[in-house]
Amino acid sequence: MVNIEVGVYSGTGYPDGWLRICEQEKMPHKVTDKPDSPVIVFEKETPEWLADYLSEGGVAVITEAVPASLPFDSQYFGEGLTTELFFQGIQGVAYAPAMGSIFRGNGYGCFRLHEKRIAKNGISNGEFPVFLRKNVGRGCCFYTGLPLTKLLMCMGDTLRCFSPYTVVTERVSAIDKSLIAWVLVEVLKKAFWAAGLPYVRLWYYPNGEPTMFAFRVDVDGVYGTHLTAIARTAEEYKMPISFFVNRSLCQGDESFIKAISDFHEIGNHGDVHNLHDSLEDNISNIQQCSEWMRAEGISSGPWFVAPRGMWNWSLHQALEALGYEYSSDFGLEFDGLPFFPRINNRRSSVLQIPIHPYSVERAFAWSREEDAPEPTSETVADYFKKVVRDRLKNNLPAFFYGHPQYLGTMAHEVLPELMAAVTSLDIKTTTLTRFARWWLKRDATRYSVTWDEENRQLVVDGTLPGSVYLNVLTEQLDLTVEGIAERQVMFTKADAANEYRYLRGGIDQ
Ligand SMILES: [Zn+2]
Repeated sequence: MVNIEVGVYSGTGYPDGWLRICEQEKMPHKVTDKPDSPVIVFEKETPEWLADYLSEGGVAVITEAVPASLPFDSQYFGEGLTTELFFQGIQGVAYAPAMGSIFRGNGYGCFRLHEKRIAKNGISNGEFPVFLRKNVGRGCCFYTGLPLTKLLMCMGDTLRCFSPYTVVTERVSAIDKSLIAWVLVEVLKKAFWAAGLPYVRLWYYPNGEPTMFAFRVDVDGVYGTHLTAIARTAEEYKMPISFFVNRSLCQGDESFIKAISDFHEIGNHGDVHNLHDSLEDNISNIQQCSEWMRAEGISSGPWFVAPRGMWNWSLHQALEALGYEYSSDFGLEFDGLPFFPRINNRRSSVLQIPIHPYSVERAFAWSREEDAPEPTSETVADYFKKVVRDRLKNNLPAFFYGHPQYLGTMAHEVLPELMAAVTSLDIKTTTLTRFARWWLKRDATRYSVTWDEENRQLVVDGTLPGSVYLNVLTEQLDLTVEGIAERQVMFTKADAANEYRYLRGGIDQ
């Protein structure tokens, strides 16, 4: 019997990035400094027992590897800087500005030391796998010299493209963190399969749904009847909206906010429409808004989205100090699954819920900057529908956003069409708050899994809430699961076409 779990090597630091991935996947894991798990993940630092662990059949995954981390000839090439990663399964580019050790060999994905160049003289130079794979004895080592786990909590945002479906730009996280998280999960899956084990996690959505749909509106001014148009149309078409209200931009217009029916929900979007560097100033900015809503009798909850999407550690600490349930800030991350940020080696209690950062308002501003045609209700609806289909295909949340200013002028056309697409794809609607609360329930689940190789049986110990499903990813479907209701088990079979291979190499086995 083998415990299906990830060992997160403690070392002298604290591997926050790996812990986030394990928590987000909700897979059995533990922090350890011993070779006592079938798959162990490391950040930079590795112990003396790594060589024996690998040769006896252990599987290691190492980020930020340096030659000294690796107990074999690593084919070290030198130190390098890169900004773009390519991975089969990722459409376009993943932005991951990083420096680290470069190794030659075979593996998965690629990056280029000489970016944005074409090949000449038939020479392909400076191209390396993102993750390398090396068989050692009976075990196997996956490693990257790039600090991918560390990038997950880096601050910093910039104006850039954020989606393969639009050329509109937005000021978002300078790092494609949700794509990096996805790459780390892909490698973890391969690590379990290399160990001859299924990959086990809790599914991302209630009742095994493939995705969920939500819409958030940041009320940076009600713009007369625009806010009302959004709220009424959305309710008519059964689309519950999470409104986040900014005090200084809405003062004097409280009656429009009070008119929002309780079919929708209302959260906090600060007082001054900006981010502060200090904890005290961020606390005060959040409180000014919540106190105003309370005084005005606006019914709202401890839910926040950052003005301008701007995010820093002290904002998150301010939300934690004030007991907020969640925040949603594309300056930290967008498009991915919810997670609990880890700051200064501890997990925050405030959930972060990424959304898709396209807004009609930014699309109008961009068209003026670029002298390009203005968006119309038709192009906006088409864009949203494209992204919904993409989210469904990739099992990512279909969480969108906008503002009253321009979305309000086209709500009558855009929202019904978007809702019709969501309904026809059989996608269930939720709100940020409802989804956050379900995610908390999933997060609180305690369970363990053992693998009986002889009978090819997974045995689950623990109780899963009825809406939380176990997801088992295997290369072969010749196994059974014991210990939980059959309807709560979802199998995913690895698809040969979905193997992510190094673009110009093969796997070294
Ligand atoms: Zn705003």
